Amino acid sequence: MYLDTDAFVLRAVKTLKGRMMILLFTEKYGKISAGAFQRGNKKNVESALRPFAFGFFELRKHLGTLNINKTDIKNSYFSIGEHVERFANASFILEFTDKILPEEAPSQELFVLLADFMRLISKRKRGFDTLVPAYMLKSMKIWGVAPELDTCSSCGGVDVNPSTFSVRHGGILCNNCTTPNENNDKLLQDELIYMVNFDIVKIMKYLLENPLTHFENLILNESTAKKLRRILKEYAMYHLDISRLKTECFEGPAVIDPLLYTLKD
Ligand SMILES: [Zn+2]
Repeated sequence: MYLDTDAFVLRAVKTLKGRMMILLFTEKYGKISAGAFQRGNKKNVESALRPFAFGFFELRKHLGTLNINKTDIKNSYFSIGEHVERFANASFILEFTDKILPEEAPSQELFVLLADFMRLISKRKRGFDTLVPAYMLKSMKIWGVAPELDTCSSCGGVDVNPSTFSVRHGGILCNNCTTPNENNDKLLQDELIYMVNFDIVKIMKYLLENPLTHFENLILNESTAKKLRRILKEYAMYHLDISRLKTECFEGPAVIDPLLYTLKD
């Protein structure tokens, strides 16, 4: 049986006897692994099936195994490798996408989001950080776990003056839920709570409400982008059950399991 679909290469691993295992995010079938033989010109196959590459794939299913039969790479995104920061951020998003995608569950929305991200980051000259939290927030929305930014995520109160963000509760907290007293001393000690200012919450809403393509020229201030990214990473680890990503080593030492972040500059 033959399957055909557009796909991004998420990972490529060389195995035995000139064989490669390619992890694809396909448009029609979601995340799948397929084998590829390095027939013909070895270098051509290797360079075509590198991470980031996007193209058309014909896959053959035989005895329960998928193999790549034909490829037509439409964009290799070589420009991603030309800049260390661009490469680090794009690699992070590729790994993040791999982690949040279940096997063989198509998500047209996430596929389009990744296509937009790749197109934008491959052309971007600076502010690479800006696209990363935007992509993370939007993928959380697709998965139905976007942070609550309008009402208190602990008591549901609508009278909210956001100053804190609780990773565990999944959104902002009202003052009643964060003012230390007998009831919530425990909350403050035990939860992953970030002090946030109004701007950060406004930015999160802006990123969630607008398409990624609107951020082509948007550059967030570096410290804001870093704070957002740190919060969203903890959030993704907690709500999407993903572990720390390998590509984070690009960003220098990570803070391990903090109980309380003060995010004021
Ligand atoms: Zn509350």
